[in-house]
Amino acid sequence: MKVVVDQHLCEGNSRCSEAAPDVFEVRDDDKSHVLIERPPEALREKVKLAARLCPRQAISIIED
Ligand code: SF4
Repeated sequence: MKVVVDQHLCEGNSRCSEAAPDVFEVRDDDKSHVLIERPPEALREKVKLAARLCPRQAISIIED
């Protein structure tokens, strides 16, 4: 599993970093940055939740 944030869509409202703080970090540029590009399976549900909560549909989960 690979996680990508579309920086053009992201509006920095931090829903992702609240759902999965190990994976997403919203920085001073008001964009979400992926901390773990290939998160372990244990974080899958949190990543999926983050993607679902993102109001901009900016998060993609790519299956390898
Ligand atoms: S929830 Fe979506 S729009 Fe909001 S900071 Fe995260 S990636 Fe960006």
